[in-house]
Amino acid sequence: MTTRGAPGGPRLLLRRLREVMAEPVNAQARLDRIVVHIAANMVAEVCSVYVLRADLRLELFATEGLKREAVHQTTMRSGEGLVGLIAKTAEPLSLNDAQAHPAFSYRPETGEEIYNSFLGVPILRGGNTLGVLVVQNSVKRTYSEEEIEVLETIAMLLAEMIASGELQTIVRPGAEIAARRPIALKGSAVADGVGLGHVVLHQPRVIVTQIVAEDTNRELERLGESIEAMRANIDQLLDDDGSLGDHREVLETFRMFANDRGWLRRLREAVSTGITAEAAVERVQNDARARLQRQTDPYLRERLHDLDDLANRLLHQLTGQALIAPPETLPDNAILVARSMGPAALLEYDRRRLRGLVLEDAGNSSHVAIVARSLGIPTVGDVANITSLVEQGDSIIIDGSAGEVQVRPQPDVEAAYREKARLRARRQEQYQELRDVPAITRDGLKINLSMNAGLLVDVQHLQETGVASIGLFRTELQFMLAPQFPRLEQQYALYRQVLDSTPQGSVTFRTLDIGGDKILPYMQTFEEENPALGWRAIRIGLDRPGLLRTQLRALLRAGAGRRLRIMFPMITMVSEFDAAKVLVEREIAHLSRHNYDLPTDVKLGVMIEVPALLWQLDELLERVDFVSVGSNDLVQYLTAADRDNRRVSERFDVLCAPVLRALGMIAQKGAASGTSVTLCGEIGGRPLEAMALIGIGYRGLSMSPASIGPVKAAILAMDAGEVAALVQDLIAQKDGAPSLRGQLRAYAEGKGVPL
Ligand code: PEP
Ligand code: MG
Repeated sequence: MTTRGAPGGPRLLLRRLREVMAEPVNAQARLDRIVVHIAANMVAEVCSVYVLRADLRLELFATEGLKREAVHQTTMRSGEGLVGLIAKTAEPLSLNDAQAHPAFSYRPETGEEIYNSFLGVPILRGGNTLGVLVVQNSVKRTYSEEEIEVLETIAMLLAEMIASGELQTIVRPGAEIAARRPIALKGSAVADGVGLGHVVLHQPRVIVTQIVAEDTNRELERLGESIEAMRANIDQLLDDDGSLGDHREVLETFRMFANDRGWLRRLREAVSTGITAEAAVERVQNDARARLQRQTDPYLRERLHDLDDLANRLLHQLTGQALIAPPETLPDNAILVARSMGPAALLEYDRRRLRGLVLEDAGNSSHVAIVARSLGIPTVGDVANITSLVEQGDSIIIDGSAGEVQVRPQPDVEAAYREKARLRARRQEQYQELRDVPAITRDGLKINLSMNAGLLVDVQHLQETGVASIGLFRTELQFMLAPQFPRLEQQYALYRQVLDSTPQGSVTFRTLDIGGDKILPYMQTFEEENPALGWRAIRIGLDRPGLLRTQLRALLRAGAGRRLRIMFPMITMVSEFDAAKVLVEREIAHLSRHNYDLPTDVKLGVMIEVPALLWQLDELLERVDFVSVGSNDLVQYLTAADRDNRRVSERFDVLCAPVLRALGMIAQKGAASGTSVTLCGEIGGRPLEAMALIGIGYRGLSMSPASIGPVKAAILAMDAGEVAALVQDLIAQKDGAPSLRGQLRAYAEGKGVPL
């Protein structure tokens, strides 16, 4: 038996439902009418809607055919009974003898024992289950493919009703529907700060409101035209130029999907059921999402994102809406939510209206994270699935220091975070008061604090923090943000501006540190099994001397008439420093031949990031003017734990004997040879770690601007001599403890050192 003989067929049903959606009645009356229409049209004796609540129970919200008293009374757990099974698997279930199914669970209050056949579909949105829609018949019948599809289409209408919050008004008192429930999510801490505001999706979803088609042939044409246009667009991007780098792979995947027969067939079949092209894209995508989300294979899950992006492109193509939210229409208190995003895109938004940033796919070391930190935008990264868990305009709170995200928070949670934000602001004011206080320990030891920077916007932090110098200027950021290799003049202009804004102090420019995770989209890349151990930083600079020489020339010209400091990253052998130095000398000779003004003094230094240098310290310190420890990389190589892989990056504590012994050795040898040793990795910016570093002999630390206040406050409260004795004692112990953190923390707390 099929619906072909049903009164009016699916088209008429969808039209009726559209009328019901527009009627000015309350949510319960609307749902009641919907189930009546469905049952009548599909010649079913029963039609019921179950909605998933925040406590993960499915509540019967409306029924035609079951006992009315059961509405808002009958509930079941997700996974329990046939309805629960559909919610859990997010897949339709069609049975001609439901009671014989092992998952069947009998509910006497509904009176459903007389029904044998059963068809249920999940109500999905963004791949998440919001509820279940069911029809039942007493005869043993087999539902047709067409009926399943019609029911899935109706489920989309219901998804919109649920997600909009309309049904929240009729849920059983005290309960909450899942789609609007508060959610607490954990990600990685990317940029400090607490932000309260409302969700702005960087790539807003197209909300498909027109689900029922007026003219199916026209919809098939629209679908065909849009797919053609999208394909042409992708082909053009691929043909445009050969330097797409990483993007090429993504686009190739897009092209593969866009030509995928199965995908195209499913889209056309969906349109043939009487829905619009947009609704078809959403429905097919919902199914794909539900299927792929359960995949554990990371490769397949990655494909889900590609497929999502493609469906999104197609929806935008169909509706003519812009793919990216127009940055100029940003509301106040915006918290931007993005799957991933390029650093340039972030810079386009109005900073004054941005209260925070949440990223699904990008972590601490992504380029956008670096820019967010520079701009002081509280940011949380690696938040799984966030883009499908929020709706545009939802209230949201983020804590960038703890890596926490609260979606649709309850009032008490919101109050707690407001308090946190207030405390933070108060603390910032206290740091502000320390701005002009020199960083001297209680026993009179002066510590030189400087800041890390990489963008011109960073320079403003010199004023705010009161430090005079930039201890690490990451020159690669300009390269990472630019659409193509910055030319000599552009490099020169940036370096000049940076030097102009630091008249009192010095700037240590680090030459290009690209490769590894720092990829230039326009530079040809090579597939590397282990990019962190691959062709990067000075290795590229020495192999492509043209690149390095251009940069050195720009630096030397920018430093005309003043002191210039240049530092080389990832030096492994002292001979690499010698080779780099030769390039500097050649550039100096070239510039003076052409009558350029030169810096009054050029100091050359090396970053200690590769363990091999620890056994060349004598010859290294003899050659260089200064060294700076890049503890981010040095620790990752010492412990063989990828700094960007969350599974291992927190496995070992930097405050352990082996790391502190290695770092201590560098400080001692530096002091003995009279060569300046500083440290510019992230650990220098954490008060407890900074205390330990001072204890093992560090006198200069360079850190992100936000860390200056907290580290200075700790320095002012500590006694360096006492700390040195404690740390020396702890690292000399032979008990094999994996961490000294507990003892150091206990000491600091006992002495009132603020952490
Ligand atoms: C480091 O490795 O510690 C460092 C400061 O360099 P980057 O974080 O840029 O690799
Ligand atoms: Mg490094």
